[in-house]
Amino acid sequence: MPAEALAAEVRRDLERLGLPARHWTAREPGGDLLDVLVVGAGMCGIAAAAALAFKGVRNLALIDQASHGLEGPWRTTARMRTLRSPKHLPGIALGIPSLSFRAWYEATRGLAAWDALYKIANDDWMDYLVWLTGVLALPLSSGVALRLLDHEGAHLLAELSDGRVLRARHVVLATGRDGAGGPNLPALVDRALWPEHAAHTAEAIDFTRLRGKRVAVLGAGSSGWDAAATALEQGARAVDMYCRRARLPQFNKGRGSTNPGYFEGWASLSDAERWQLMAYMHDEQSPPPHESVHRALAHPGFRLHLASPVEAAGPGPEGVALRVAGQPRGAGFLVLATGFAVDLARRPELAALLPHIATWADAYTPPPALARPELGRFPYLDEGFAATPRGADAPAALAGLHLFNHAATLSLGAIASDIPGVSTAAERLSGRIAAALFRADFPVLFERLRAFDEPELESTPYFVALRP
Ligand SMILES: Cc1cc2nc3c(=O)[nH]c(=O)nc-3n(C[C@H](O)[C@H](O)[C@H](O)COP(=O)(O)OP(=O)(O)OC[C@H]3O[C@@H](n4cnc5c(N)ncnc54)[C@H](O)[C@@H]3O)c2cc1C
Repeated sequence: MPAEALAAEVRRDLERLGLPARHWTAREPGGDLLDVLVVGAGMCGIAAAAALAFKGVRNLALIDQASHGLEGPWRTTARMRTLRSPKHLPGIALGIPSLSFRAWYEATRGLAAWDALYKIANDDWMDYLVWLTGVLALPLSSGVALRLLDHEGAHLLAELSDGRVLRARHVVLATGRDGAGGPNLPALVDRALWPEHAAHTAEAIDFTRLRGKRVAVLGAGSSGWDAAATALEQGARAVDMYCRRARLPQFNKGRGSTNPGYFEGWASLSDAERWQLMAYMHDEQSPPPHESVHRALAHPGFRLHLASPVEAAGPGPEGVALRVAGQPRGAGFLVLATGFAVDLARRPELAALLPHIATWADAYTPPPALARPELGRFPYLDEGFAATPRGADAPAALAGLHLFNHAATLSLGAIASDIPGVSTAAERLSGRIAAALFRADFPVLFERLRAFDEPELESTPYFVALRP
């Protein structure tokens, strides 16, 4: 079935389900106040916008700073050959089979290709997301960044890079891992190394510049292995990967907690249980996918150094001078595979609202054995992903700020973060926003109900011409 036939199937499915619902909020689309502004059109932003539109919240805008087709990491900084997840994940299906990744893949590549597929190539995943944006006619403006969020009365004000200031009742920040804080840059690495001699895996790296060089990789997580393999494939002479631990993590607890229990139930756990669970996940860490390990090991120049903490990194004769477990080491280039930090204080777009946003450190004090400062920086969100107030002077508009990205993990689980939970997350978010809009619009909606005069009995003998 070609893509056009699939698009027709999507239209049929949506029609059968009565989706998207008719617009119902107090304000029509096109006015000077949006019901919802979704920032970020990666998979979470697409899912959020689609789920909201399905619920009849159509006074909606969706922006992304990236060009269309370059949203998220898939075509830029993701260096693995395929997604790490198994191919059977449903994608952004929102319960509709024709919107699943599998339906798209079978339609565009054929049934045999689906059977033969091992894992999803990054480009295919991105093509699927682009297709979804189109087939669902999401109102995307590309190349537009949110610069600053502020509030005026009960509304949020969004200053955009194109000079516009949008007013919105709800803002959904679907801004990805980076949007929850930024790359984790350990203080032991001298900033003077940038950009000539160091980069984080979340940055664009021109690996052809590393040809013939010795590359050091700090960290042995998934992105580190893919960066190491890419460097060697592009002609790096050697890659030394330094890992603090004496052995790699063996079990992917993230995958072990990928089920509807965790998706639906996480937010209903007590603060103590959620903290304990998250501290456990953080301590365990995930192993790299075996595919990435084999990809790096295929090169004789690759070496993993276990139990080898990097204690300092700065400029040196070869480019980079490292101290590793007390010993001097050198490299021509350093790749930091140190993951992402959750820290809203690092997000310039949140500067004005930050003092009012409660974090887990404000809300919960763990027992000393579970003290983890990095978890204390996660925002303390409600079940609709909304920020909660830090103090009595927090603006009412804060209730309309939804952090629909990795920052939500401690409060709601990894549902607005990794692929498998994203439909659950979007369903939850859109339901809560629809309910909040309904509550706020209730006086208008009740007036509309009073004025509702569709004559049900007109064709029967019992019809009475009444004005409501
Ligand atoms: C290398 C890598 C590989 C991964 N592989 C997998 C995997 O195999 N399986 C899995 O389940 N998960 C995986 N993940 C985790 C997760 O699925 C991805 O991070 C995914 O991209 C998250 O989607 P998102 O929509 O939250 O964020 P993103 O896809 O990052 O989208 C966020 C969007 O927001 C935009 N944006 C950010 N700030 C602004 C702003 N101020 N104004 C306007 N736009 C803005 C960005 O341009 C971006 O397009 C991976 C993550 C990484 C980094």
